[in-house]
Amino acid sequence: PTPVAIFFGEPGEVVSDPFFDGEGPERAGCIHCGGCMVGCRHNAKNTLDKNYLYFAEKWGAEIRAEANVLDIRPLYGPQPDNARYEVVYEHITDWFMKRKQVVRTRNVVVAGGVLGTVDLLLKCRDESGSLPKLSRRLGLRVRSNSEALIGVTARETAQDFSEGVAITSHFWVDEVTSVEPVRFPPGSSFMRTLMLPLESLKGKTTLAHFGHALWEGLKRPFDLLTVRVLPKWPEKNTVLLVMQTLDNRMSLRRGRSLWTLGFKGLVTHRDPDQPIPTVIETGRAILNRFADKVNGVPWVGMNELMNKPNTAHVLGGCGIGGNETEGVVDVNQQVFNYPGLYVADASVIPVNLGVNPSLTITAMTERAMAHIPQKVDAPPLEPLQKPEGLELVQRKDGRFLQKALPFIFALLPLSLLFLFKTFKRK
Ligand SMILES: Cc1cc2nc3c(=O)[nH]c(=O)nc-3n(C[C@H](O)[C@H](O)[C@H](O)COP(=O)(O)OP(=O)(O)OC[C@H]3O[C@@H](n4cnc5c(N)ncnc54)[C@H](O)[C@@H]3O)c2cc1C
Ligand code: SF4
Repeated sequence: PTPVAIFFGEPGEVVSDPFFDGEGPERAGCIHCGGCMVGCRHNAKNTLDKNYLYFAEKWGAEIRAEANVLDIRPLYGPQPDNARYEVVYEHITDWFMKRKQVVRTRNVVVAGGVLGTVDLLLKCRDESGSLPKLSRRLGLRVRSNSEALIGVTARETAQDFSEGVAITSHFWVDEVTSVEPVRFPPGSSFMRTLMLPLESLKGKTTLAHFGHALWEGLKRPFDLLTVRVLPKWPEKNTVLLVMQTLDNRMSLRRGRSLWTLGFKGLVTHRDPDQPIPTVIETGRAILNRFADKVNGVPWVGMNELMNKPNTAHVLGGCGIGGNETEGVVDVNQQVFNYPGLYVADASVIPVNLGVNPSLTITAMTERAMAHIPQKVDAPPLEPLQKPEGLELVQRKDGRFLQKALPFIFALLPLSLLFLFKTFKRK
C-alpha cells in the first residue's frame, strides 16, 4: 500500500482541519471517485492550495494568480527600498495587450517546475539578457524518471476499476524498476486517443511500428475497439506507471521545432551517450502478465511507436554544483552569481528517483528555505554589485509574433468577409 495525502473520514462529511491541529482549512471525507490525478474536486486531498499556499496567505503573503513571469532583472547598487531584483510578469487572462506589472523584491524564489523554470532562466540568460551570468549548465541533465506509461483495458469485468483513490499501491520489480497501478475517474477517456493495443513493438522505424500496430488491430478488431472506442474505458482500465532509477538524460534548449509550431520555445535534445529509453522491457513483461490476469488488452502510447519517451515526472535542468561550471545552483539552491535568487522545484533534483517526486521536491525546498533567515532575524542585505565588465543590455523579448497572433485571428474573419463581399459585387 502507498501512503497518500488524503482525508479518509466519513465520505463527503465536512470536518474542521484534521491535518494541522485545526489551523488549516476544513476538509471533507474522500468519496473514492478516482479523480485525484488532476487534483481533488471534493476537498479531500491535501494539495498545495490547502497547505503551503493556504498558510502563506493566512500568515500575510499576497498571492497573485494568473501571472506569467517574463523576466527577472537584477538591480545593481543601493536601492531606496533595498530591493535587489525586479520581477516582470503579465496577466495571462487578458485577451489582448496583456497588462504587465513589476514587483521589486529582495529575494526571488523561482518555482516554475522544470519546463517553467528552465524556460524562464534560458530566456533571461540568452534572450532578454537580464541574467547573462547564469551557468552554461542550465538546461543540461534533464531526466524523465526513466518512465513509461502503459496499461491494460479489461475485455469485460464485473468490478469497477475506477473506484477508489488514484494510486493505492506501488511495487519494485527489480532493484531499479518500480511499478504503480493508477486509476482514472469515469468520464476521463481522452487519454485513450493516444493509445494502441500492442503486446510488443516490431520493426525498426516509426512506419514499421505503425504498420505492425495496424495489422494487429485488423487481426483483433474487438481489442482495438476495447482500447479506443467502447464505452466505460476508465471503469475497465488500469494505467501502469513504470519508473526506473537508471541514469539517462536529455537536454532542454530554446529553439524551434515541429512541436513548437515554428515558434521559439523549449525543445528537447537526446543525450548521445545516455539516451532516455522509450520502451522499458521489464515494464512490458509486467504489463502482459497483468493483462493475462484480468483478461485484458495491453496497450502502449503512440509515443512508443514514434520512439519518443514520455513522462509525468520531468526532473533536472538546474543542477546543484560546487561552482558555476559544475551546476546552476549551490547546495542551498541559490543561483551562482546571483545572491538572493533561488530555484526550488523539480529542476534541482539530480537523479532519476524511480518513484513519484513530489515528496523529494518538498523536502529539498523546505531544506533550502530553512537557510534563508526569517525577516525579523535577517541581517541587512548587501546591494548587488554589478559584475566587472558586464554590459547592461536589455534586449527585446522576441515575442512579436505571439503578441500579434490574437490580432491576426481577430482580423481574419473580417478580411474574409471583405473579400467575399468584393467578389460578390463583381
Ligand atoms: C498527471 C500527473 C500526475 C502526477 N501524480 C503525481 C503523484 O501522484 N505523486 C507525485 O509525487 N508526483 C506526481 N506528479 C508529478 C508532480 O506533480 C510534479 O513532479 C511536481 O508537481 C513538480 O513540482 P514543481 O514544483 O517542480 O512544479 P509544478 O508543480 O509544475 O509547479 C510549477 C508552477 O509554476 C507555474 N509556472 C511555470 N512557469 C511560470 C512562469 N513563467 N510564471 C509564473 N508561473 C509559472 C506553473 O504554472 C505551475 O503552477 C504527477 C504529474 C502529473 C502531470
Ligand atoms: S478519490 Fe481522490 S479525487 Fe476523489 S474524493 Fe478521494 S481524494 Fe478526492
